[in-house]
Amino acid sequence: MQKNSFLTFLFVFCGLSILLAQQKEVYIKAGFLYDSEENTLLKNQSIHIEGNKIIAVGGFNLIPADAKVIDLSEYTVLPGLIDAHTHVLFSQEAKDDFSEHSIHSLTMESDALRTLRGAKRAKSYLDVGITSIKDLGNSGLYLDVALRDAINEGTIEGPRIFASGPILAAIGGQMYGVSPKHQDLIDLEYRIIKTVEDAKNAVREHQNQQVDLIKICADNIPNNTRLTIEEIKAIVETAHSYNLTVTAHSTNNQSAWNAIKAGVDGIEHGFNLADSTLVLMAKNKVFLVPTENSSNYMDTYNKLAGYDTENTDWVKQYLSKMKSRLQRAIANGVTIVAGSDNYTALGMPRGNSSKDMLRTYFESDMKPLNILRSATYLSALHLNKETKIGVIKPNAYADIIAVKGNLLNDFLHTMENVIFVMKDGETYIENFN
Ligand SMILES: [Zn+2]
Repeated sequence: MQKNSFLTFLFVFCGLSILLAQQKEVYIKAGFLYDSEENTLLKNQSIHIEGNKIIAVGGFNLIPADAKVIDLSEYTVLPGLIDAHTHVLFSQEAKDDFSEHSIHSLTMESDALRTLRGAKRAKSYLDVGITSIKDLGNSGLYLDVALRDAINEGTIEGPRIFASGPILAAIGGQMYGVSPKHQDLIDLEYRIIKTVEDAKNAVREHQNQQVDLIKICADNIPNNTRLTIEEIKAIVETAHSYNLTVTAHSTNNQSAWNAIKAGVDGIEHGFNLADSTLVLMAKNKVFLVPTENSSNYMDTYNKLAGYDTENTDWVKQYLSKMKSRLQRAIANGVTIVAGSDNYTALGMPRGNSSKDMLRTYFESDMKPLNILRSATYLSALHLNKETKIGVIKPNAYADIIAVKGNLLNDFLHTMENVIFVMKDGETYIENFN
């Protein structure tokens, strides 16, 4: 390139760059702003956004006269929500058996079809204001990582995905009833751990495939195999050496106790945690992702599964047991991180059915702002991303949503009324009617 034409190019290029930067600068005017760190609502705030980042947060006087403004002064503005327990590459009907359906999916649904279906489910999270998800396995051989990368490079639209890759589990994984001859099918969905040394290798494999965190099955119930404390310790030590956190699926108290003793960062489900285990979790700063469902969800599920809808005593018992467990966890000082674990087709987009987690916690008497903190700041904190997501403050990504209504007095309706969704500075939903 000649000197003159180079200077012309430089001039035009710089001019264009400045123009583009200017176009990407915007202010949001928020009637109320949820401060997820302080767990409080602030009145009349403005957010200065440049590109995909938040530059400043302050009063309305921050907004220059000629600025481009998104006026959300009639609404409440929140950080984009985080669902800390998803399976976007897996879906089953309420009537399906989990193990049989997994085998069916692994043998008759190609990776390409599975990923495309997962992409549609992932997009539906963005539509309801969930701008980040922690996807915890049942995703074939790293299809979650592929989906994450496709979203990050802009090939498809979707939430930020924090992907675990295949779940690390003892022999059999969660696929019960598979004959010895076909155990290799399980290797397509789980990373089966055979020894302590193998446990370390599994984490290295995952690190090499660029996962964001490690998910283990501390127990495989109803399969009766489980990881040993030594295997879990080896997983945790290797994962932490790569700055990967480890979260453990656990449905019985003993497996949770083992996982906590071995140093995991979080417990998923924890349906049967004893008080002594909750005390240990609080002491060791191990978070809990409660994944139970609301009464509404259970009604819908029962009908779809063809269960006897007259005899709902077992549902009442389940709801009351889960309410008690959540309240005991909070009373013992355990950090609650919001997660849905929704993988059943309920006749609505996945994102919509996953928001049942908010209803479930509300039914267990968690206060609205505490629920929101669990679905934003606390969730981000346990991903080591609390400066980037789950917060509205300088240097965080511009992942911002707005809801219509009164959060404190009409929480559930208001959270259904998401009228604005921005992720990474891009506006996806703008529905002010
Ligand atoms: Zn799950």
